[in-house]
Amino acid sequence: MKGNDHINTLYEHGTLASLMAGNMAGTITVGDLLKHGSTGIGTFDGLDGEVIILDGEVYQAVSSGHVNHVTDMAAKMPFASVHQPADLTKLDLSTVDFTSLNGDFVHQHELGNVFAALHLTGTFDHVKVRIAPKQEKPYPSLLEVAKGQPTFTRDGVAGTIIGYYAPDIFGSVTAAGWHLHFLSDDRQFAGHLLEFNAAHLTGDLEIFDTLEQHFPVADQAFRQGEVDLATLRDSIAQSEGNHQ
Ligand SMILES: [Zn+2]
Repeated sequence: MKGNDHINTLYEHGTLASLMAGNMAGTITVGDLLKHGSTGIGTFDGLDGEVIILDGEVYQAVSSGHVNHVTDMAAKMPFASVHQPADLTKLDLSTVDFTSLNGDFVHQHELGNVFAALHLTGTFDHVKVRIAPKQEKPYPSLLEVAKGQPTFTRDGVAGTIIGYYAPDIFGSVTAAGWHLHFLSDDRQFAGHLLEFNAAHLTGDLEIFDTLEQHFPVADQAFRQGEVDLATLRDSIAQSEGNHQ
């Protein structure tokens, strides 16, 4: 399916470790990010909401629960991942939830040591998302923010999951395991996916052979920040974990 000469690249801007440390100011514009892919996820300046990028269109769920269609190419993001869909493996899944994705699915597709993109659509019996509330300077740690994030649920909602799988060894660069966002077909409901279940979903999987990690080197907070390695993994699990 995949030619030997074909490179599939996941482009990431910023790191989860830096975001954990409270570097939440936007450091890449939407316009620059979209040069690297039409599909992806992220958050805006000040950790303002949950972003879903689908076919080059940018949607932002904010902590009121409202979903904005973002067309300002100068808006900035501190942390985002995008890719250009290619070499897709078609998926047709029955009885899907995080338990099945974390279990059989990861084993069947041999994801343990690779980065992958997941795209699933259909009608979901239940969806629970959280939406990060916008923070003001001086920024708190992501762990502090995670304690007070609003959650929203919908039942019987048609929509799309977009997100990524990352190997555990990269778990300080980005979220290890699945990091998925949801967007409803009516574009009225979205967020960082905490729980879901669906009887039948279709979509596709893409395995990346290349990770392009971009750093905000002009950002003084990033350059001067210190990461607390002793508590990093636990903090990430508490703030970014899904129900594994
Ligand atoms: Zn997220």
